[in-house]
Amino acid sequence: MEDKLQALKTRLAEIQDLRKAAALLNWDQQTYMPPGGAAARAEQLATLAKTAHTWFVADEIGVLLEDLKGQAAGWDFDSDEASLVRVVARDYQKARKIPPELVAEFARVTTLAFEAWAKARKESDFAQFQPHLQKIVELNIRFAEAWGYQERMYDPLLDEFEPDMKTAQVAAIFDDLKPALLPLVKAISERADRVDASVLCRPADVDKQWAFGVEVIKQIGFDFNRGRQDRSLHPFTTSFSISDVRLTTRLDPNYLPSALYGSLHECGHGLYEQGIDPRLERTALDDGASLGVHESQSRLWENLVGRGRPFLKYAFPRLRAAFPQQLDGVDEEAFYRAINRVEPSLIRVEADEVTYNLHIMLRFELENEMLEGKIKLADLPEAWNARMRGYLGIAPPNDAAGVLQDVHWSNGMFGYFPTYSLGNLLSVQFFDKARQDIPDVLDQIAAGRFEDLLGWLRQNIHRHGRKYTPAQLVRRVTGQELTAAHYVAYIRAKFSEIYGL
Ligand code: ZN
Repeated sequence: MEDKLQALKTRLAEIQDLRKAAALLNWDQQTYMPPGGAAARAEQLATLAKTAHTWFVADEIGVLLEDLKGQAAGWDFDSDEASLVRVVARDYQKARKIPPELVAEFARVTTLAFEAWAKARKESDFAQFQPHLQKIVELNIRFAEAWGYQERMYDPLLDEFEPDMKTAQVAAIFDDLKPALLPLVKAISERADRVDASVLCRPADVDKQWAFGVEVIKQIGFDFNRGRQDRSLHPFTTSFSISDVRLTTRLDPNYLPSALYGSLHECGHGLYEQGIDPRLERTALDDGASLGVHESQSRLWENLVGRGRPFLKYAFPRLRAAFPQQLDGVDEEAFYRAINRVEPSLIRVEADEVTYNLHIMLRFELENEMLEGKIKLADLPEAWNARMRGYLGIAPPNDAAGVLQDVHWSNGMFGYFPTYSLGNLLSVQFFDKARQDIPDVLDQIAAGRFEDLLGWLRQNIHRHGRKYTPAQLVRRVTGQELTAAHYVAYIRAKFSEIYGL
């Protein structure tokens, strides 16, 4: 049996090598590759993806898993070995259900769809993208049918990003959130003049912004011996191993918080990757539990820590020393209010903590309606705008600022958006538990000491990698199920105070 486990691990390690090599090519594409490299890079990435998939769905891996499953039932559930067999068997079962020709067609359709989307967005013309979106909806339906589902067609698609999560659970969470958020957004909109954020738009040298972000994430605990940060158009984090984690950030000379809060966000993702137990390296477990759990780590550092008063006690004097002209006449409290300003806006990625989840609900509802044939694609832009009016009281002036703003659908991804909201909710639920377990954690943060908080995250979340499903992990860490209650309480308290509600 030991031999069979070793044989499985050896094959998985080779497959993981292919995936990490693809991650490196992908990172390079988004950071340093000259535009001329795009066509060859697409072929290289397709070859690596196809080879990794083919190796993984091989009969041999199925036989090894089948032989090991009986044994694994007797092993400790939390052990690396039992977790490996359990998680890989689940991945294998799903991957085997997808015919290779569907994988190939998905790659072809999405490559063209991405180009069409980029052009349609530039020209703000949804009609150009519509036939591509039609194909992507049809492909997602074929994936869902191939995987199979009991309740909603969305279930197996969501499961790709958030293992074991069901559409009905997400809908129930949104049903709890919506009645809490809508009146709050309305009340804040009526008092918009109470917070002035214009100071954030004073021009600031981008090299200094970069240096300040690096100083802060070093202090928090990002290990630059096992990672680095580069610039990209859209910030993201990736890793080529547990000891080689890549952050990217974006610099905006006319928006001071862009680099700092972008770096804090990506650093949260990076700390998760650096914190995975090295014993899980080159297995299928050396990744986050889900996209939602990953996003909980980035949001925890960006919002719960970074946009809180204790953090500013540490960071603001340093920020003012680095940007004396930009922050002339601005005190800590004014800065706190500025970076927490709430404003219904058209673009999801720029949304504040209060309105963000409403952007996600809209997308979640429309994705389900598209899959279930409840909406004609030609009507999608108007359906989008109508929901924007209903949720945020504003409507996009054109498709580019509305239905075409996100890249996800052109990449073929349905079921991805809810993970952003789940991450927001989880970030508060985890942080509340950390505050219970480390009673003086806010004082520590105010003193620029982050090691206890990071240690808590490492111990409770990071080191486990993908061993547990999100639901198992949340129960293990907090003793509760995932709930919107913590988030709602946090949002109500914080923003009622800022806006004097
Ligand atoms: Zn993120």
